Amino acid sequence: MSIDAQALLGWFDDTARALPWREPEATAWHILMSEIMLQQTPVVRVEPIWREWVTRWPVPSAMAASSQAEVLRAWGKLGYPRRALRLHECARVLAAEHGDVVPADVDVLLSLPGIGAYTARAVACFAYGQRVPVVDTNVRRVVARAVHGREPGNPSSRDLAETEALLPAPVPRAARFSAALMELGALVCTARNPDCARCPLPHCAWVAAGKPAADVVRKVQKYEGTDRQARGRLLDVLRDASGPVERIRLDLAWTRDPGQRARALDSLLVDGLIEQTDDGLFALAGEGSPTG
Ligand code: SF4
Repeated sequence: MSIDAQALLGWFDDTARALPWREPEATAWHILMSEIMLQQTPVVRVEPIWREWVTRWPVPSAMAASSQAEVLRAWGKLGYPRRALRLHECARVLAAEHGDVVPADVDVLLSLPGIGAYTARAVACFAYGQRVPVVDTNVRRVVARAVHGREPGNPSSRDLAETEALLPAPVPRAARFSAALMELGALVCTARNPDCARCPLPHCAWVAAGKPAADVVRKVQKYEGTDRQARGRLLDVLRDASGPVERIRLDLAWTRDPGQRARALDSLLVDGLIEQTDDGLFALAGEGSPTG
């Protein structure tokens, strides 16, 4: 079974969200920033930060001229802050080696820091209108259900080829099809409550098969009490401080489990998000003098 491109594109024309990174004036750099931010964070939280970033860092060289700490502060509470550091690194490479322009070629994009299989193709497709498969969790879910009649399993090397086979042949239509497929997964064919009554697709293998349950039961990741939450609290202290802080400030930010706090602190140091000064204080990356 394939996906009815005409029905999907007609629906997308009528209902696509007016997201700012879809506007014609959004550059490939703006789109790249949005894709990095959106990977693990919902649109509603990304949009205000993205708008700030586009104004503050309209081109990669502008971000490259800022410090790691400035970028980490501006990232705020979007979560998974390693993304911010990698984007900063990517900006430096774009400014130094690519004439301050995001490349259009998927292989070149893949060679940039922090750019993985998804982001490279998303930029090639959404910024440059190329006919490349863009596969995120939303697309995998729609394809698994509508085409294969099952809930999505674990990601597989076949995902890209299977999605590519569904793309319409004309290049501009294929790029819009990819955006529409993703939008359908985000708004209608959602993980928990697919709204099949509102679905524009006239044929769906999963509905035809009686909506079979998933083989793999996914655990919902909790946040409360996790190492990730502890890392976030420690990072908040440093983000809110104007310079290096004493260890006691971090100890007070996470008192429920000293072992977990130590683990969180270690991992922040290892990830390069924070550093320790020569006199034993802690600071955001680039704001202290790292001990060798
Ligand atoms: S009919 Fe339902 S399950 Fe099938 S693609 Fe549409 S929303 Fe998803």
